[in-house]
Parts: sequence; C-alpha cells; structure tokens
Amino acid sequence: MPPLLELRNVKMYYNTTRGTVKAVDGISFKLEKGEAMALVGESGSGKSSLAFTIIRLLPRNVAESSGEILFYDEELGVVDLMKMSESEIRRKIRWKKISMVFQASMNALNPILRIQDQMIEPLVLHLGMSKESAVKIAEEALRSVGLSRDVLSRYPFELSGGMKQRVVIAMAIMMRPRLVILDEPTSALDVITQANIMNLLKELKAKFDLSYILITHDIALASEIADKIGVMYAGKLVEIAPADLFFRMPKHPYSQKLLAAMPTLREDKKIEHIPGDVPSLINPPPGCRFHPRCPYAIKGKCEKEEPAVKDVEGSLVACWLY
Ligand code: ATP
Ligand code: SF4
Ligand code: MG
Repeated sequence: MPPLLELRNVKMYYNTTRGTVKAVDGISFKLEKGEAMALVGESGSGKSSLAFTIIRLLPRNVAESSGEILFYDEELGVVDLMKMSESEIRRKIRWKKISMVFQASMNALNPILRIQDQMIEPLVLHLGMSKESAVKIAEEALRSVGLSRDVLSRYPFELSGGMKQRVVIAMAIMMRPRLVILDEPTSALDVITQANIMNLLKELKAKFDLSYILITHDIALASEIADKIGVMYAGKLVEIAPADLFFRMPKHPYSQKLLAAMPTLREDKKIEHIPGDVPSLINPPPGCRFHPRCPYAIKGKCEKEEPAVKDVEGSLVACWLY
C-alpha cells in the first residue's frame, strides 16, 4: 500500500535582511494512512515552517521551496503538491484533503464575528457552497468535537479556551480531510483541558481514519497519540522512529538529550538541560548541525561531513555513531 504522504528532500528557505534562513533543509519522510506522527524539537528548529511548506501556505519572503511532496489519494491519484498551482491547491487540497490547526489559532478567532460566520466563511467564499449547506456542515463538525449547535451563534469571548480549541479543530475536520496538521494544539490550555483535547483527537482519528502531523514541545503529550516520532534539529530531521521504540531507546544524541530534558510525573528524575544554543539557520554549523553541542562528536568527522540517514534497528537516524 502506498503511504498517504511522502516528502523527498524538501527545502524551504526565507529571505531576510540578515541572510537566507534555511528553515527546512532537506526533509524526507513517509506518513501512512491513519498514522499520527509527532514532530518534536526545540523552538526555531523549523517545525511550523515545515507544516506551512506541506500545506503550501508560504509567506512572501520565501527564497526557495523545492523537493517533492507526494500526496496519494483515491480520488486524485498521486499528486506532487510542490508542482500544483495555488488555485489547484485551493480547489483540490487545502481543507478538503489536508487541513491545519495553526499555532495559537484559538486566539486568532475573529473577536467580532460569531462562530457561525467564521466557520462557514471558507466554505461559502472559497468552495462556493450555499450558506444553508455550509451551516449544516459546521453544525455536524461541531457535533463531532462535542459541542452543541448553540455555539454557532456565540462570539469567541463567550467560549472557554477548551471550547475555542474545539471550534478550531471542528473547522479543520469540516471538509473530511485525510491529513490534519496540528501545530501546538494544546499549549495554551490547562492540563485537564489538554488531556480532553488529546482524547478528542484520538477519537476523531479513529472515527474518520485521519492521519496527523502533531507538532509539539510536549513529548509526554506526543506519546499519548503518536505512532511515530520525528525529531527536528536546525531544519533537519535527525531521527524518525516508531513511538514505543523512541521512548525506550532514542538513538540520536539530540533525541536522548531531548528526552532527558523532559519532566515526567512517574519518576523523580533530575531534569537535564541541553547545553548550548539552537544554531543560527542562516549559517548553520557544517557537518552534523548538532556537533557543537554533542558530547559524542567524533573529531575530524562530525564537524566536516554531514551524516547520512541510516536505518538502525527500525529507527531512521542521521548520526555518525551508527
Ligand atoms: P516554535 O517551536 O518556536 O514554534 P518552530 O520549530 O516552529 O519554532 P519556525 O517557526 O518554523 O520554528 O522557525 C524556523 C526558523 O525560521 C526560525 O529561525 C525563524 O526565526 C525563521 N522564520 C520563521 N518564519 C519566518 C519568516 N516568515 N521569515 C523569516 N524567517 C522566518
Ligand atoms: Fe554527535 Fe557526530 Fe552524531 Fe552529530 S553525527 S549527533 S556530532 S556523534
Ligand atoms: Mg512553531
């Protein structure tokens, strides 16, 4: 069976006054149908940039966007999203096949518009639906996320954070997409509401056979839902591993540091912090980008040659130790 999504050597660079920011720099991975991948990594490692690259929402200052983003669909066949025009993406892909819950999007709901108007706007405006059918779809989507139709007539300030996040998720699943990209969907919520939202995401995944790319700082939360984990460091994926294997045996030195830096409820372990800073993406370190912070760096090798990705007992790892 073909996967749902396959990235091959995808790059996306920004132009800035200080130089070219290589935010996504040669990313390859596959996502299967119904699979959830958590994308983790420190702030500024390029997670959101990768999400925008996949859904083809790029700002004006893009310097380069290249590679292949293959999407396998029953209706469309195999399409390369990189090669599609903006109008094709809008007609065939965005919201219908791939949707996104943006970072901090619950706070981006328009405060002076009722939920109904915000939900139906894209359906009426971009997809040419009648208001009546759009409202039906919005109602149905709200029901799927556990909200009643009364919410339609309310303003965002009349809803709790958790309810707003449900509205945003309802908007993402409204058109029955195959893939939903969720960028920090719970980071602004309290712990109990976070858990409720994660349960909702699990339910929706099973009910609609959805695939997810879940971007999060919270690896513990990721472990709740992820089938596999992708670790991003300075614009590159340094490890992709099945979730259970990743938590038992992270292979890349950066993954090991990331897990050691994660607080757990169960153990009283000492939380380590990762020494050094996330490197500049304008002039990233040569060789392995993690070498200035890596305790195992091999002198004469790691700072010169970029490690290739290898399959190490079921995990894909880019590190010279293997
Ligand atoms: P966070 O966890 O903080 O959300 P992230 O992993 O999502 O971080 P990105 O937002 O993708 O990281 O940013 C990656 C790099 O690209 C950063 O160096 C950031 O400053 C830069 N960047 C992001 N958006 C733009 C833009 N529109 N123009 C120029 N540079 C940008
Ligand atoms: Fe460390 Fe070298 Fe592996 Fe990079 S390639 S993570 S520097 S050992
Ligand atoms: Mg981000």
